[in-house]
Amino acid sequence: MLRATKIVATLGPASSDQKTLAALVAAGIDVVRLNFSHGSADDHRQRVETVRQVVSAHGRTVGIMADLQGPKIRIGKFANQKIYLKAGQTFILDAECKLGNDERVGLDYPELIDDVAAGDVLLLDDGRVVMDIERIEGTEIHCRLRHDSELSNNKGINKQGGGLSAPALTPKDMEDIKTAASLNVDYVAVSFPKSGSDMRLAKELLHEAGSDALVIAKIERVEAVANLEDILHATDGVMVARGDLAVEVGDAAVPALQKRIIRMAREHNKFVITATQMMESMIHSPVPTRAEVSDVANAVLDGTDAVMLSAETASGDYPVQTVESMVRICVEAEKSAEVSLDRHFLDRVFTRIDQSIAMAALFTAHHLKVKAIASLTESGSTALWLSRLDCGVPIYALTPKIRTRYKLSVLRDVHPLLMRHVDEDRDELLREAEEVLILAGAVEPGDLIVMTIGEPIGQAGGTNTLKLVKVGEHRPKH
Ligand code: PGA
Ligand code: MN
Repeated sequence: MLRATKIVATLGPASSDQKTLAALVAAGIDVVRLNFSHGSADDHRQRVETVRQVVSAHGRTVGIMADLQGPKIRIGKFANQKIYLKAGQTFILDAECKLGNDERVGLDYPELIDDVAAGDVLLLDDGRVVMDIERIEGTEIHCRLRHDSELSNNKGINKQGGGLSAPALTPKDMEDIKTAASLNVDYVAVSFPKSGSDMRLAKELLHEAGSDALVIAKIERVEAVANLEDILHATDGVMVARGDLAVEVGDAAVPALQKRIIRMAREHNKFVITATQMMESMIHSPVPTRAEVSDVANAVLDGTDAVMLSAETASGDYPVQTVESMVRICVEAEKSAEVSLDRHFLDRVFTRIDQSIAMAALFTAHHLKVKAIASLTESGSTALWLSRLDCGVPIYALTPKIRTRYKLSVLRDVHPLLMRHVDEDRDELLREAEEVLILAGAVEPGDLIVMTIGEPIGQAGGTNTLKLVKVGEHRPKH
C-alpha cells in the first residue's frame, strides 16, 4: 500500500541497535532524527553508521536529520535528584546556587533574570510545574507554586508568552553544526528560531562547514509565530514543535496554529513536519489511545508532509509497534483526504519555467487520472513543487543524485527513486525511467503517466518539458 505521509523517528537507546533499526526501516520510517539534546558526537556518528548500513541493505530511502538543542533553559541538579513542592509555597531559582534543595535550585542561563519580572509565569518540565514570579532579588528569582508538583534534575524552563532573549544558535549548536556536516546529514533542525535571520545564520554556518543540508525551523516560540512569513522565506522546511510551542502560547492555541503553519508552509513551497506527543502513550503501551489515533489522522488531513515520533521510538518500550500503528493510521486517513486541486490551483503564482511545467503536470495528471507523475530531477525542486498541491496522483522523483534522493525523503506524496545517469541520449533516458518505475512496482506497461523532463538532459533547474507517456512505448522491441 502506497503511503503519502512520511514518518520521522527519533533515535535513542531504544532504537540504536542494528536489529531494531532494521525493524523500524521495514516498518516504514522515512527519516531518522538525531536529537542533539542528548548523546555525544560519537553516539550520533555510531547511529548514522548503523542507519546507513541498514538502509543500504534494505534499499529504501531514509533521510537523516540532526536536531540542534538550541537555547533550552534548564534548572541545575538537586542534592537528592528530586524534590516535592506544595501548592502555595515559595521557591527560588538562583543562578549562584550550585546544588539544589527544597527551597532553591541553580540555572544554566544566568541571563534569565534580565528577561523576567514580577507577575511573569514560568513553566518548568513542559508545563507540569507552574510558578508565578513574585519578586527579583539580586541573582534570585522568587516564585510561588501553583500546584503540588515534583521537580527533578535539569528540567527545562519556559516563560509563558515568550520573550526570552537567548539567541537561537548557542556555542554548542555551532559545534554540533560541524558534527552534523561531517556526518553528511540531509536535514538540520534549528530549535527556537525567532526570525528568518536565525535560519540564514544556520545555513551560512552549515555552508562554511561544507554541508548543503536542508534547514528546518522549529516553530516553538511566540516570536516565531509572529514572524512565520519571514521564517518561511529563509528556511527549507518547518516543524510544528508542539512541545515547547504549547508551553509558550498555551496548549489550547496549538491545534489552530498547527493548521495555519501547515497551510502557510505549503503555500510557500516549504515542507512541514508535525511533532511531539503524537503517540505518547505508546512509550509504555502497545496500542495508541483513541485521541492519538485522531491526532495523527488529523495532521494527515491538515496536509502535513510528515509526522514525527520522539520518545516513542527513542526510549519507548514499543518503538516498532508505534511506527506500525502510525503507518496504519496515515494510510487510512489518506483515503479520506480531500483532493481539491482546482480550488488551490487558481491562486498559485508562478513565473519560472520549471515551476510552470510542474503546475501543468499536476493539472494534467489530476484530470486525466494518470497512474503516476514521474519527475526526472537533478535538484529535486520540481518534485517539491509537484508535492505542494494534492492532486491525488503519486509523484515519483527519478534522480541520478543520491543526495537529492535523500533530501526528498520527507516530502508528502513523493517517492524518490535512484536512476543510473544516462548521458545525453533522451530516448535512452526515457526507457531507463520507465524501467525504474516498473521495477519499483509503480506502473505497468500500458499505464498512462505524466513525465517532467529538463532538456538538455542533466542540468539542475532545467525542467522545461511535459510529456504524456503510455508505459512501454519507449521500450525496445525484442
Ligand atoms: P524538542 O522539540 O523535542 O527538541 O523539544 C520539539 C517540540 O518542542 O515539540
Ligand atoms: Mn522543543
